[in-house]
Amino acid sequence: MSETVKSLNFIEQIIEEDLENGYSKAVLRFRFPPEPNGYLHIGHASSICLNFGLGLRYNAPVNLRFDDTNPAKEEQEFVDAIKKDVAWLGYKWDTERYASDYFQQLYDWAITLIKEGKAYVDSQSSEDMAEQKGTPTEAGTESPYRNRSLEENLTLFEGMKNGDFQEGQHVLRAKIDMTSSNMLMRDPIMYRILHRTHHRTNTDWCIYPMYDWTHGESDYIEQVSHSLCTLEFLPHRELYDWFLDQVHDPNMVRPKQREFARRNLSHTVVSKRKLLQLVAQNAVKGWDDPRMPTISGLRRRGYTPESIRNFADTIGIAKRENLIDVSLLEFNIREHLNRVAPRVMGVLDPLKLIITNYPEGQEEWLDAENNPGDEAAGSRKVPFSKELYIEKSDFREEANKKFFRLKLGGEVRLKNGYIIKAESCTKDTEGNVVEVQCTYDPKSKSGSGTVESLRKVKGTLHWVSIAHALEAEIRLYDRLFTHESPDSQKDRDFMEFINPDSLEVIRGFVEPSLKTAKVEERFQFQRMGYFCVDPDSTSTHLVFNRTVGLRDSWAKVQQKK
Ligand code: ATP
Ligand code: MG
Repeated sequence: MSETVKSLNFIEQIIEEDLENGYSKAVLRFRFPPEPNGYLHIGHASSICLNFGLGLRYNAPVNLRFDDTNPAKEEQEFVDAIKKDVAWLGYKWDTERYASDYFQQLYDWAITLIKEGKAYVDSQSSEDMAEQKGTPTEAGTESPYRNRSLEENLTLFEGMKNGDFQEGQHVLRAKIDMTSSNMLMRDPIMYRILHRTHHRTNTDWCIYPMYDWTHGESDYIEQVSHSLCTLEFLPHRELYDWFLDQVHDPNMVRPKQREFARRNLSHTVVSKRKLLQLVAQNAVKGWDDPRMPTISGLRRRGYTPESIRNFADTIGIAKRENLIDVSLLEFNIREHLNRVAPRVMGVLDPLKLIITNYPEGQEEWLDAENNPGDEAAGSRKVPFSKELYIEKSDFREEANKKFFRLKLGGEVRLKNGYIIKAESCTKDTEGNVVEVQCTYDPKSKSGSGTVESLRKVKGTLHWVSIAHALEAEIRLYDRLFTHESPDSQKDRDFMEFINPDSLEVIRGFVEPSLKTAKVEERFQFQRMGYFCVDPDSTSTHLVFNRTVGLRDSWAKVQQKK
């Protein structure tokens, strides 16, 4: 086997085989079929990257199809959010489609099925129907309505459509086989009555087609060649094919359903129903809360489309479900931001530092590189003055040799600036250090070319000039759940595992160049991690989200436990 063949995922192998067996490349077509009942999450990203990735690989069109058959749960807000997220991920769909566009066609086909004796109206309660369903090892029982006359079926079905009946009074069922070993083949429901307003068809319809009846036929109408879905639909494949058999014209493409494993991410939940619960119960501040595994939450957190695509690529497509550690997602964003994020200085937990031999009232604008790994990123100026903030944890009165930060009598370099030496410190009544007095070496300025400027000291600290710094609200995030798999714990509800400390809001100080930073712009705060500007940010109140730390410190903490 050649290298390229080896690197194909199993879905691509299926397509390659089809092509080898005479399938024309020109008829390849894919779709991404979200139900607009919530926001897209990181699990959907896998499906999006798979389908649109195939489109790119085979130069084939990919439809964005909204599977909008349940007006009780679907909303335009979700349609808009889904479109925004798919586009943000960097993909272009061929056409935007809605299953609701096919309601008339589906209805007409249903009439044909009734006429052919392959569908009937059942008028039992849902409880009775459930009882007759049987079990996987016991055959089901046929409904007493199964052999209704053709006329009666047509009249009732029309009445259902016209709104003559109440919800639950009748359903339309396919007449397949109540003894099938596949429970889904035991006369599955095709239509139910719902007196609801649909976000697109309004009140035109009082009956709505079920997923199984809709999905395959929609694929067929759109002439999708490969309909890729998650593994839970494997037992539905037989029904998918049965429904296609009823309408397929041999001159048309016959869609093929193939399944791949759902992607689960650790320390979170990827189910719209559960994400909706988090939103509804105010466990988070909306679908785009930066702690959410939604695409919009990740965007607000500072993730880039590239990092999410790379993540999806790295984990690939699998045949079996497994749990992907969230640290892998974090690795991908860290790796991308390390390449592209400008470096800036921000102090999150400030300690005042005074340079006693620096002239009062003097300021200097020092050169600072924007990204040492990228010359094209250029440089900016940062203001330096007598009074600065450094990070509280960067100073100790006394420390051993391994402490490369500032201690009394010791020297460090201030990033882009001078070498300073801590001479003394002042404490409050509780013994906390509140100010450090230092002296600086005026000849040691970075980049000045002097012998002193080249002098090596062990530590380099970030800092901001107090007079110039901008105050900022900084939101630090931790895992939303304390358990790696919160929704698969026996007898425990996933909500019990919510991390009470998933958000910490602090007040920090950042260099003045950040005044013009735009929403979603991402930065590396040197030594502190990657941060982005939150949409709550204004010109008078800056707000930053921490995307990730510089290292995977969380994994280390976990190991120590
Ligand atoms: P949820 O369980 O979150 O409600 P869903 O499958 O009902 O998800 P849909 O809107 O129907 O959500 O999904 C659109 C497409 O995305 C489907 O093809 C579905 O199989 C796929 N998908 C959904 N969740 C995942 C996941 N975790 N991993 C991979 N693909 C997924
Ligand atoms: Mg679904």
